[in-house]
Amino acid sequence: MSLPEGAAFVTRFAPSPTGPLHLGHAYSAGLAFEMAKERGGSFLLRLEDLDRERSKPAFEALIAEDLSWLGLSWPEPVMRQSERGAAYRGALQQLWDAGLLYPCTCRRKDIRAAARAPQEGGDPLIGPDGIVYPGTCRGAPRTGPVPWHEALRLDIGLAMERAGTARFEEHGEAPGPRIATCRQMTEEVGDVVLSRRGWDASYHLAVVVDDAAQGVSCVVRGQDLAEATPIHVLLQILLGLPRPAYFHHRLIRDDAGKRLAKRDDARAICAYREAGMSAGEMRALIGL
Ligand code: GLU
Ligand code: ZN
Repeated sequence: MSLPEGAAFVTRFAPSPTGPLHLGHAYSAGLAFEMAKERGGSFLLRLEDLDRERSKPAFEALIAEDLSWLGLSWPEPVMRQSERGAAYRGALQQLWDAGLLYPCTCRRKDIRAAARAPQEGGDPLIGPDGIVYPGTCRGAPRTGPVPWHEALRLDIGLAMERAGTARFEEHGEAPGPRIATCRQMTEEVGDVVLSRRGWDASYHLAVVVDDAAQGVSCVVRGQDLAEATPIHVLLQILLGLPRPAYFHHRLIRDDAGKRLAKRDDARAICAYREAGMSAGEMRALIGL
């Protein structure tokens, strides 16, 4: 399977406006932009501002500034997740009607305690969302109206049973098919949260609904998100959405070999910009 070509190639860069973009973002956005350009496709920007507390207009403005400085362009207006509540609720309703969601009333500390118990004090299993949920609330009723005020979890065992295997084609570093089995998903991922208390949707649900709404046919993003992709593919199957190709790229690391986080403000694009670096020099620095 090869990547889509021409107008059929649609990719996106989807940052959260919760801090300044760093070198890793410059690589991710630059690579996606170049791949689209090379293929005669399109590059979209999407603001993943679901975290209302940490998302700031100033960071949004800085994202546009940094990306423009790097030579990137995208169609306006950009999609923002804070305006997509109705679409997320529609998808959640669909999953609820299929009996695949249940309300979870656990607090973080309850989950930690329950996850530790069966392993006699050992460290609980960590999946893409942190501790693999021990299933405490799985027996909660799944009938009646959607309990929007609670966190909603996906019954991943049942979901996998309905969907079969979650399979996708990797086009990045080590290309080839990736197949997640039901056992892997139940043991290593667990019942992920798709809707948080007081939020519209979690990252996993929003990213899948939005990639489909934007017609994204190739997701270009960092290797760090590859372990979440089987969850996304599973949701695409359950919701009857088209399944994009995936290109997970290498991560830009700092001198100590650690991956860059948003809090490493010294590595922020704007810091290099202010220090007088040119966009061309930055592209060379990150190997674009
Ligand atoms: N918003 C996510 C981030 O800030 C990226 C989501 C994605 O590319 O799927 O890392
Ligand atoms: Zn629970």
